[in-house]
Amino acid sequence: MRIVIDPGHGGSDPGAVGPNGLKEAHVNLAVALKVAEKLRKAGVEVRLTRTSDVFIDLQPRCDIANSFGADYFVSIHCNSAGTPEAEGAETYCYKFGGQGEILAKAIQTELIAATGRANRGVKTANYYVLRRTNMPAVLTELAFISSPEEERLLGSPDYQEKCATAIARGIGKVIGVKIIQEVLSMFKDVPANHWAAGSIERLAKLGIIKGDEQGNFRPDQPITRAEVVALLDRVLKLLGR
Ligand SMILES: [Zn+2]
Repeated sequence: MRIVIDPGHGGSDPGAVGPNGLKEAHVNLAVALKVAEKLRKAGVEVRLTRTSDVFIDLQPRCDIANSFGADYFVSIHCNSAGTPEAEGAETYCYKFGGQGEILAKAIQTELIAATGRANRGVKTANYYVLRRTNMPAVLTELAFISSPEEERLLGSPDYQEKCATAIARGIGKVIGVKIIQEVLSMFKDVPANHWAAGSIERLAKLGIIKGDEQGNFRPDQPITRAEVVALLDRVLKLLGR
């Protein structure tokens, strides 16, 4: 299965720019690189239309997908409006009734589930990259960079990761490949990129910290006084006291 991921804009074309200066092209690239990585880890053949902040025209983007013989084409963008109130995610396909619509719906569903942002739905559009690609193609608008709240989200690596996992999962559902979010082997709710993942892994291996019966560690929840005592008790035992 061959997928082309297209990070919109780049280089001399920054795309939409948020009220605090965030450039759409940078967000698109960050998310696209993560989507590609997740798909590749699942064994999917992926090509990106750009892997750095360079300008590339619309026809060359389509040429890359057409000559690669891609099965699907996914373009990643951020939305923009004249009013700061416009919010939410939406995904476009060229026309309803084909694989493009199915892929757009799968990505849109995963995006809304992962981010909880407003669902603007799946729509059709006569966009160049949707029209001139030979395979089912979609264009997803992650959120509105013109909204100060969504600009803040789009700029955060955490949110970019959420979007990337969602897009990869949506693609995975359509092509029949399971995308597993990377978590620590001992806890199913500690993402491998959590800021304390290394310490959590070390202490869990030493038996100092434990998860609940369901295998969750709840890394960002508060600890009770009893749990502090149990934890210190395990440390003391480990020290032979
Ligand atoms: Zn764009």
